[in-house]
Amino acid sequence: MQASKRISTILGGGSDGWEVFLRAREMIDGGTPVTELTIGEHDIRTAAPILQDMHRSALGGHTGYAAVPGTAELRDAIAKRVTERTGVPTKRENVMITPGGQAALFAAHTAVIDPGDTALYLDPYYATYPGTLRGASATPLAIQAHASNAFQPRAADIAAVAKGAKSLLVNSPNNPTGVVYSRETLESIADVCKEHDLWLISDEVYDTQIWEGEHISPRALDGMAERTLVIGSMSKSHAMTGSRIGWVIGPEAMIEHLINLATHTTYGVAGFIQDAALFALVQGDDFEVEIAEPFRRRRELAQNVLAQQNVVGVVPNGGAMYMMLDVSATGLSGQDFAFALLEKHHIAVMPGESFGTAAAGHVRVAMTIEDGAFEEALKTLCSFAKGLAEKA
Ligand code: PMP
Repeated sequence: MQASKRISTILGGGSDGWEVFLRAREMIDGGTPVTELTIGEHDIRTAAPILQDMHRSALGGHTGYAAVPGTAELRDAIAKRVTERTGVPTKRENVMITPGGQAALFAAHTAVIDPGDTALYLDPYYATYPGTLRGASATPLAIQAHASNAFQPRAADIAAVAKGAKSLLVNSPNNPTGVVYSRETLESIADVCKEHDLWLISDEVYDTQIWEGEHISPRALDGMAERTLVIGSMSKSHAMTGSRIGWVIGPEAMIEHLINLATHTTYGVAGFIQDAALFALVQGDDFEVEIAEPFRRRRELAQNVLAQQNVVGVVPNGGAMYMMLDVSATGLSGQDFAFALLEKHHIAVMPGESFGTAAAGHVRVAMTIEDGAFEEALKTLCSFAKGLAEKA
């Protein structure tokens, strides 16, 4: 018996870019300690008071089927947060709760794509994007954001392939580059969306991790609220990756369709998780700043280390828990550099090539380990790169 084409082509064939990560796991399983700077997960766990609230809710009986669109209280709290932060009037009816941002990405594309429609996205990209688009029966088409333009996408490059496409997926602050899209970038992207009648799917799961500049939600730009679906999540903002809680914000009519989709797929998110998410949200901005703080600190540590050398180049990372480093002066590809660093120094980073073609010759470093070890690992990475560059 055959699986459907749709599901059996989710991975798209070829390398999936996880080879270095898997090799690191193999080494760890074999007893070799590895400094892992690969995946985007906090080195702290979900805060105890959030878990206590989850426990309180579950023991209080919120363990049956919860409201499929999300509880009224949580939807209201998210609507209020979005209204306050973006200035776009947002109501409960504009919000649907999902099991994490990943499910929200899939749901949003399912809501706008008919089989075979072209869904645009930007390279470098978060590793699941092309598979998510294929899973939603789209034909994905990547557009490069160039290193020479500090990985800010150019509207003209998008416009050149936008004819006939259905949607464009953007992500700022960006994984993998850490780049925060400027107002100019987002306004020019919004103009392309309006001109070519594209849905804009805006993945804003890193919106609380801003180190420089400001986070602009493109939904707030002129004429965009009616054609934008925003993806949000508690994973990064509240260190709740395992709780699987996120949302889609969009026009009321689209949210109604998304609720129909949820009724026939996930049937909602556990009530006690939603209650804990509400509890976490009402802790306010200070709590979010506290969760983001270690990454802000480590970014500064990294900047100091990198300023003392001139072999490894750094992409200006205004946000998110990553740094993209240019290692092309070593003469190696990102992939070869990452493998060599792993074998020689037992430090695991992600090759830029894992995120498409635009970040070739780079590696992504996740700032997700304790400060001292992080600084040490970066110093080692830089001196290793220097040694290679001298031979190159
Ligand atoms: N979008 C981006 C850009 C991400 O980096 C991630 C997780 N690493 C997600 C979406 C999905 O996050 P989650 O499903 O945990 O909310």
